[in-house]
Amino acid sequence: MKSLREVLADADSRHVAIGHFNISELAAFNGIFAAARELQLPLLIGVSEGEREFIGVRTAAAIIKSMREEYDYPIFLNADHTHSLEKAVEAAKAGFDEIIFDNSSLSLGEDIKNTKEAVAAIRAIDPNIVIEGEIGYIGANSEVMDAAPEGIALSTPEDAVRFCAETGVDVLAPAVGNMHGLLKTMVAGTAHKELDIARIDAIKTAITAQTGTKWMTLHGGSGTEDREFTEAAHAGMTIIHVSSELRLAWRRGVEQGLKDKPGEIAPYKILPPAVDGIHAIVANRLKLFNGIQ
Ligand SMILES: [Zn+2]
Repeated sequence: MKSLREVLADADSRHVAIGHFNISELAAFNGIFAAARELQLPLLIGVSEGEREFIGVRTAAAIIKSMREEYDYPIFLNADHTHSLEKAVEAAKAGFDEIIFDNSSLSLGEDIKNTKEAVAAIRAIDPNIVIEGEIGYIGANSEVMDAAPEGIALSTPEDAVRFCAETGVDVLAPAVGNMHGLLKTMVAGTAHKELDIARIDAIKTAITAQTGTKWMTLHGGSGTEDREFTEAAHAGMTIIHVSSELRLAWRRGVEQGLKDKPGEIAPYKILPPAVDGIHAIVANRLKLFNGIQ
């Protein structure tokens, strides 16, 4: 069984990206895992602070470990957007495979100082945990919005090099035209996010040449144009996050399930449209991340 580091190194060498999908409960998990298994692709499951509070921090870790063993499958768990040292330590002790320490809302200097402290604390608990840090600003909510959040700030290769060199993170999440959440126009299909592929390439080249950090994550992938997913992976994104699209599919699926079966009260008979909707999106996104036609 490959470790997450080996899976990341393999994806990076082939210029493809590992899919990272968030869950709050098992209907979403079932749809995501089924899609990955059909394509035989490695998988990162993400739980934000709110999502893991709902599932249970240790429960989330137990589910993913159990699936990894039962199916002998490269499935890993990420503590998505962890804002405090306390929550990072909690996830490390629970056995998470990756932790994203996110202080990107602070100044670059404060972000570096706090991330460096988190890296030391996490490595002291388990040096195998993959640690990601974040720079720039791409909004904070995986929701459907009227307009883009204020203060979106793109990352520069200079800031990226400084951040990676001083913190020693394994993975960098830069701001490159991506954004958390979806605009209503994106849900309607009349607009897409526009990634700065040249910026991805420049940041990747700079950090690889000048720091020990090799891998990068594209956050806020929902609503990105199909070909830009593949281009982003090719330019150096090793992990791509999709969450808002799955939340939207979950809601639509639940509404459909309730409408289809007005008298039904068994959740597992109501939820299949949500599982199926999420399954279809994950399969589509994984193919794009991996350049599969
Ligand atoms: Zn994110």
